[in-house]
Amino acid sequence: MKSGNLGYPRIGQDREWKKALEAYWAGKLEEEALHAALKTIRLGNLKKQLEHGVDVIPVGDFTYYDHVLDTSAMFGIVPERFGYAGGEVGLDTYYAVARGNRESAASEMTKWFNTNYHYIVPELGEGSRPQLTRNRPLEAYREAKAELGIEGRPVVVGPYTYLKLAKGYAPEALDAWVDRLLPLYAQVLRELAAEGVAWVQVDEPILATTLDEADLARVKRIYGFLKSEAPGIDIMLQTYFESVDAYDLVVSLPVAGIGLDFVHDGGRNLAAVQGRGFPADKTLGAGLIDGRAIWKADLRGKWETLSALASVVTADRIVVQPSSSLLHVPVSAARETALPAELRGALAFADEKLAELALLAKAGRLGIEAIAAELEAAERSRDALQRSPARTNATVRARMATLASQPAARSSAFGTRRVVQEAKWQLPPLPTTTIGSFPQTPEVRGARQKWRKGEWSPAQYEAYIQEQIRAWIDIQNDIGLDVLVHGEFERTDMVEFFGEKLAGFAFTAKGWVQSYGSRCVKPPIIYGDVELPETMTVTETVYAQSLTQKPVKGMLTGPITILNWSFVRDDKTREEVAYQIALALRDEVEALEAAGIGMIQVDEPALREGLPLKREQWAHYLDWAVRAFRLSTSTVRDETQIHTHMCYSEFHDIIESISALDADVISIETSRSHGELIGIFEEHTYDKGIGLGVYDIHSPRVPSADEMSHMIDRALRVLDPGLFWINPDCGLKTRGYEETVASLRHMVQATEAARERYAVRP
Ligand code: GLN
Ligand code: ZN
Repeated sequence: MKSGNLGYPRIGQDREWKKALEAYWAGKLEEEALHAALKTIRLGNLKKQLEHGVDVIPVGDFTYYDHVLDTSAMFGIVPERFGYAGGEVGLDTYYAVARGNRESAASEMTKWFNTNYHYIVPELGEGSRPQLTRNRPLEAYREAKAELGIEGRPVVVGPYTYLKLAKGYAPEALDAWVDRLLPLYAQVLRELAAEGVAWVQVDEPILATTLDEADLARVKRIYGFLKSEAPGIDIMLQTYFESVDAYDLVVSLPVAGIGLDFVHDGGRNLAAVQGRGFPADKTLGAGLIDGRAIWKADLRGKWETLSALASVVTADRIVVQPSSSLLHVPVSAARETALPAELRGALAFADEKLAELALLAKAGRLGIEAIAAELEAAERSRDALQRSPARTNATVRARMATLASQPAARSSAFGTRRVVQEAKWQLPPLPTTTIGSFPQTPEVRGARQKWRKGEWSPAQYEAYIQEQIRAWIDIQNDIGLDVLVHGEFERTDMVEFFGEKLAGFAFTAKGWVQSYGSRCVKPPIIYGDVELPETMTVTETVYAQSLTQKPVKGMLTGPITILNWSFVRDDKTREEVAYQIALALRDEVEALEAAGIGMIQVDEPALREGLPLKREQWAHYLDWAVRAFRLSTSTVRDETQIHTHMCYSEFHDIIESISALDADVISIETSRSHGELIGIFEEHTYDKGIGLGVYDIHSPRVPSADEMSHMIDRALRVLDPGLFWINPDCGLKTRGYEETVASLRHMVQATEAARERYAVRP
């Protein structure tokens, strides 16, 4: 029995990778120096895996930006607009596809399955003529061998996953694309075999999603072809993030090994191995160590699962693996010395997971006694966390015990609330508002730094924030917006800000994970019961409201977004944790209302991305997600107006749930989706307040009032003008001052014109 890894974080202990990339982009690092810096990181990563005793070390998982983009570059798949003429894809073209350049927009980027990692979507235009430009896995293999004597296992994104994630082809053309790519994959594999490479890891996470018969037929065809064209190499067909529905078909494919996730599979993969058996001539990649979570493994429990597997598969045909690449966890927990000891002790980031892999494989070989000391130490740390007072808060538990009777519906239906709210708020038709944040200028960020470093007293910092709020209340009044916001100047990030104030959260010093390209995020850790010790937003909101006659919207991040953008404790279900957060947020909502704030927005931009990979699990997730939102927002008076905001437009599948949130007003991004969203409302009209973003905030461009009028007209063809709001797509924190003010002025002009056109004068 061996241990193996599937991928290691690229970013480096101190985000050296990010710094090198950004220095190169800024013209501060020469290309040669970039290669050298990244090579140091890459070899360092390999060395670590070697030192931790991992037997099977992945090579080629490292990247200059994104592994899906690497696959496109390897096959010469570059969108036509970049003027690529074949041959090796140069670094500047590579980065232009990822980030855009002066002439051409970047390729789209989207979430990698249900993770927070974003990949560059391959564009398979009609004109593309795929070719093998470089055998990247082979280069990686040679380097690891030459430099460190490592006999690595090259990693490639599998052909079917690659094609299913790509865009730019008609569904009927999928088979032709399979035919076009397969010979290139075969060539990569043949060259690896010729080099003496024994195993290659072919990642096919698409096999863990819901596939139809035609998909499965293609998968069969693909692996049959690779077997016949490159017989000299053993393929570890790697799945992850969920169970494999077509288990029988997948294990019968002509490959030498199958990698399965035994952590995020809901027990289904284990049941399949036990119930259906596993082919005697294949190796099982046993994904036992959680590649997505940050907690120390329950080694005894893992060993039991491993033993169950070993009663079906002979031990020498098992490789103990993480459930997925370790790309999704931070590098090393060892340096998190500022965390509470009981928390730090229970953490396992990538490096700690490497050690767990080696230990578990050892237990598999020699019996659990062989790791008795380590097992005991791990159990002690896990117990210490479990006994931590933060873990069990009596007040929270008492409240959770009454969950069934906690109100999760407003006392009146929207129809009734609407009448009360119209009477109370007396807003003009087509009311205008913004999504919450105003520009976080370097000056605002600098002020926060000074306060954090102690150069400024809290009072100084608060005074500064108040100045910003006052300035922007004046600006909003001057522009003529109807519903104002305080501007969120005191917040860095919409989850971090709340996490820092709620009990049960902790923040690491270096717990970065890659989100996309060089962008890394440091997700909060929810490790204890969640409670609101004191109000979080009342002071700033009430201050803003004191400066104007117009309503100021309170601004909170919703329970599901906080949950989905954090690392979450593993001794409770996500559903339970969501309800805890929801009840804490309810306290804040009630405090805002009691302080005279009559409009409260609860943002849920991450609601959709939490959808499970398998459709049959969607309803359950959406049920509890909607309930959590409603637990937070339902106890207010009829006249109090609840808003929500989401920034994505793929609504088709979840429109019922969006409506079930029962928010009085929702604002949604629209301008980048080219009217797609508007089409949805032709089928399902929306019967509550709704604002479709009338301009894209992701670019500094100032759109004209005419352009916005056009957006408004399009929306009002399908939506009721009596329920329509006018707002930008999303928050304005990444924008500059000038462009923000200019765009909002145009938005108000467009609104005034629309009020005339639709004869809905105030
Ligand atoms: N209220 C937040 C803001 O305006 C919303 C951000 C978001 O939707 N991602 O910045
Ligand atoms: Zn948004």
